[in-house]
Amino acid sequence: METIRVESIDRDFIRAVEEESGQKVSQCYQCGNCTAGCPLNFVYDIPVHQIMRLLQVGQKEKVLRSHAIWLCATCETCTTRCPREIDVARVMDILRIMARRERMVSEKGIQSFYDSFLDSVKSHGRLYEIGGIMKYNLHTRRPFTAAELGPKLLGKGKIHFFPKNIKGVGAVKEIFERFAKKRDS
Ligand code: SF4
Ligand code: SF4
Repeated sequence: METIRVESIDRDFIRAVEEESGQKVSQCYQCGNCTAGCPLNFVYDIPVHQIMRLLQVGQKEKVLRSHAIWLCATCETCTTRCPREIDVARVMDILRIMARRERMVSEKGIQSFYDSFLDSVKSHGRLYEIGGIMKYNLHTRRPFTAAELGPKLLGKGKIHFFPKNIKGVGAVKEIFERFAKKRDS
C-alpha cells in the first residue's frame, strides 16, 4: 500500500470534525476493524481506518479530497464494529458536508446524484425517478445515461411518467427550509 505523506497538523480541522460529528476521533486506536468490515473498501483510495488516522493528525486536504468519503455507502458496518464506540459512519457523513463547504469534492457525479435525489424528495416528498434521473444526467452533462432502461421500467410499472406527490409534501418542504435557514444562519 502506498505510503501517505503527512503535512503539518491542522488542529482547527480536528476540533471542527469532533464538534460537528460529536465523535472523539482521538479515541481510535487503529485496530482496523472498520476497514475489515467495510464492503466498499475495495474501491477506496484510503481505507476508512486510515481516514481516522489522518483525522487524528489533522490532514484536512488529504481527507476532504479523498474519494473514499464519497464512495462510502453509509451502511454503518464500521460504526457497529468499532470497539471504541465511535460512530465512524457519522464521521464520514460530516466529512462529505465539510468537503462540499470547502469546495473540495472529488466525486462530482456522486454529489450530483445526492442533489438530484434530494431535490426530488423536496418537490414531491418522495423520489420521482424520471425527474431525478433527468436532473442527474443534466448536472453530469450525460443526457442519455441509462436512457435505454426507461421504456422497460415504464412498461413494467417500476417507474411512472408523471410525479406523484405524497400527502404531506408541504411538511417535507418545511423540513428542507428549516435546514437551509439553520445552515445559512
Ligand atoms: S459506512 Fe461507509 S466506511 Fe463505514 S463500513 Fe459502510 S461503506 Fe464502509
Ligand atoms: S474500528 Fe474504531 S478503533 Fe478500530 S480503527 Fe476503526 S475507528 Fe479506529
